[in-house]
Amino acid sequence: MQATIEVNGLRKRFGRTMALDGMSFTVSPGQVTGFVGPNGAGKSTTMRVILGLDAADEGHALVGGRPYTSLRTPLSHVGALLDAGALQPGRTARNHLLWLAHSQGLHGRRVDEVLELVGMSSAARRRAGGFSLGMRQRIGIAAALLGDPPVLMLDEPVNGLDPEGIVWMRGLLRSLADEGRAVLVSSHLMSELEDTADHLVVVGRGRVIADTGVAELITTASRGRVTLRTAAGP
Ligand code: ADP
Ligand code: MG
Repeated sequence: MQATIEVNGLRKRFGRTMALDGMSFTVSPGQVTGFVGPNGAGKSTTMRVILGLDAADEGHALVGGRPYTSLRTPLSHVGALLDAGALQPGRTARNHLLWLAHSQGLHGRRVDEVLELVGMSSAARRRAGGFSLGMRQRIGIAAALLGDPPVLMLDEPVNGLDPEGIVWMRGLLRSLADEGRAVLVSSHLMSELEDTADHLVVVGRGRVIADTGVAELITTASRGRVTLRTAAGP
């Protein structure tokens, strides 16, 4: 499958809230695309629409040229981390991943590999109920990597990670993109992404306000306004 995400003119209203107001951007293979914007800008809704968890009122989103909902083995096409809280407290980390793998027809042997990849091998047989947010994030990322997908979408993956975890996450995102994957990673903090991303999609109020390579440095992003300066300076 071609590793791209294409978001085209998404509109989505929740009651009186216009969550998405013409959201459009592309995520290319081999790149970490940072999806940045203040809380409420529409980042999570965009990801949910891409995954078919929310229906858009208008527009469309494609992964590898196809709607996500048309994929027969979704985990082997797109890995997503949306809600790190969604672990069953009574299940061990390893059992959670085994269950997920089997429900998707994936090989269980991949489970130990992804646990290793996210630095959770030693906690594999502990129940998730006692996990910190950072540990749940790691398990969520392990789950996203189960099917070795060419497209990854991580919603605020740095949340709950300690400084060491943040450095680790940067390295992981980099290596996943360097292997040719299209990686979309959201944050409400520019500072979390500016060193990691190759490309930035800055959003506010449900739409893109800047779509730029990191060669162009974004200096201000607040209330739907950004100031751009090129690397060459003013
Ligand atoms: P972000 O992830 O950038 O913080 P969201 O996509 O979560 O933003 O939210 C965008 C807007 O849509 C916000 O105003 C939020 O309150 C609203 N919203 C998101 N999901 C729902 C929902 N299920 N019901 C009502 N409003 C929602
Ligand atoms: Mg969000």
